[in-house]
Amino acid sequence: MQRIKINDIFDPALIGKEVSVMGWVRTRRGNKHVQFVALNDGSTIRNLQIVFDLEKFSEADLKLITTGSSIHVIGSLVESQGKGQSVEVQADKLHVFGAADPEEYPLQKKGHTLEFLREKAHLRPRTNTFGAVLRVRSALAFAVHKFFQERGFFYLNTPLITASDCEGAGAMFQVTTMDLNNLPRLEDGKVDFSADFFGKPTALTVSGQLEGELGATALGAIYTFGPTFRAENSNTPRHLAEFWMIEPEVAFFDITDNMDLAEDFIKYCVRYALDHCKDDLEFLQQMYDKDLINRLEESIKESFVRLTYTEGVEILKNSGKKFEFPVEWGTDLQSEHERFLVEEHFKRPVILTDYPKEIKAFYMKLNEDGKTVRAMDVLFPQIGEIIGGSEREADYEKLLGRINELDIPMKDMWWYLDTRKFGTVPHSGFGLGFERLVLFVTGMTNIRDVIPFPRTPNNAEF
Ligand code: ATP
Ligand code: MN
Repeated sequence: MQRIKINDIFDPALIGKEVSVMGWVRTRRGNKHVQFVALNDGSTIRNLQIVFDLEKFSEADLKLITTGSSIHVIGSLVESQGKGQSVEVQADKLHVFGAADPEEYPLQKKGHTLEFLREKAHLRPRTNTFGAVLRVRSALAFAVHKFFQERGFFYLNTPLITASDCEGAGAMFQVTTMDLNNLPRLEDGKVDFSADFFGKPTALTVSGQLEGELGATALGAIYTFGPTFRAENSNTPRHLAEFWMIEPEVAFFDITDNMDLAEDFIKYCVRYALDHCKDDLEFLQQMYDKDLINRLEESIKESFVRLTYTEGVEILKNSGKKFEFPVEWGTDLQSEHERFLVEEHFKRPVILTDYPKEIKAFYMKLNEDGKTVRAMDVLFPQIGEIIGGSEREADYEKLLGRINELDIPMKDMWWYLDTRKFGTVPHSGFGLGFERLVLFVTGMTNIRDVIPFPRTPNNAEF
C-alpha cells in the first residue's frame, strides 16, 4: 500500500479510505479505552491524530509508542470528532520502526529554549520550530532560483577554493594539505607553499563576485547561490563563519538598475514565502513574533527609501540620538546607525548609496566627485544590512589605479583586469546573505537558528 504524506492527507476525497502513514510520534495520551497519538512526518507543521482502540491493540502493542519513536500505521481516515483537527486515522495495523527511550530522547514534549536546541542540532529539525524554519528556508531557496531563471539569468558556480586573498570582504580560512606539525620551510623560515597541494597559498572564498563578473561579461546576467566562508571572529546574532550567499551580476546594468533588481528580488522572495508557507509562518508568528505576517506584507507593499550615505549621515547627526559609536562623514555605519534609519526614522527598508571610497571595496565605480563610490547597501528592519552591492568600475585605468593605491598584488588581479581590457562594459551586482533573508522572513532573531548546522567561532559540532 502506498504511503501518504501527512501534508497530503487533509484532502476530503480521502475520507473513508484506507491510508498508510509513517512518521515520528510527537505525543501520546488517552485512557483505558482509547489512545491518541500525534504523528508528524516533516512534510507539514500539522500533526495527524492516530486513534488506537484498545480493543484492537493491547497496552503491550503500544508500549514502544513514545515521543520520538517512528511508526507505520494503516487504518481508515475519518472525520475527527475531537477539536483541533479535521481528520484522524482509526488504526488497524501498527509497525514500530524504532523506539526512542523516554529516559534518553532529549526532545520531550514542548518548551525547550532555542539555546538548548542549538546543542541538540542533530535532532532539532524534528521540533515544530525547526521544521517550520527549514521548510521556509527550502521554499526561499526555490524562490531564489525561480526569480532569476524566470528573468533569463544563468546559474553560475564559482569556486569555493581561491588563491586570491584580495576579495577583501573578510578574513579567510586557509586551505592546505600540509602537515601543520611539520611544515616545509624556505631558507628565511617562511612556509614553503610550493610544496602545498595547489603550489601556493589557498583559502575558502569570501565571495564569488570576481568570478561572477567573468560570467556576467560573457553570459550577460548570472547569479551564484552557494556557500561562503568568513573567519570573522564576530560573535553576533547576524554572522556565521559559513553562510550561503546569492550574488547576481549583470552586464549593461547601472546602479539604479541594480537597486531595482535588489528590491524586486527581495519582494519576490517574501511574497513567495507568504504564498507557499502559510502554515509555517502562522506557527512562527504565534510562537515568536506576533507582528510577523503583517510586517512581511508591509515590507513588500511600500517602496524602499533610497538615499545617499551623505544624506544618511546628516540625518543621524541631526537626530539628537546618542549612539555608542559617534557618526562622522567617512566612518563606516554601525548596526545601531543602520537600524535607527530603518526602524525609527523611515520605518521601512532603506537603500543607502554612494559611500566614501575608503570604506568600500576597490572594484566599485568611482563617482565624479572623486570621493565616493557607487555602492549600495540594502538595510532591513531587525536585520540591518541584508544586501551589499555596487556598480563596478569598468574603466581599466581607474581600476588599475585603485589596485595600486591599495597595494593589491598583480599576481591575483591580472585575470580580473582582463575583463576591463577586452570589451569592457558597465555592470553591476550585489550579494545577499541567504540566512539574513531567512531571518527576516521567519522572524527568528539569531542566525544560528535559520541554518541547519551553524558554524561559528568555537562551534563546528554536527
Ligand atoms: P556586515 O557588515 O553585516 O558584516 P558585510 O559588509 O561584511 O556585512 P558583504 O561583504 O557586503 O557584507 O556581504 C554581502 C552580504 O552577505 C551582506 O549584506 C550580508 O547579508 C551577508 N553576510 C556578510 N557576512 C556575513 C556573515 N558572516 N554571516 C552571514 N551573512 C553574512
Ligand atoms: Mn562582514
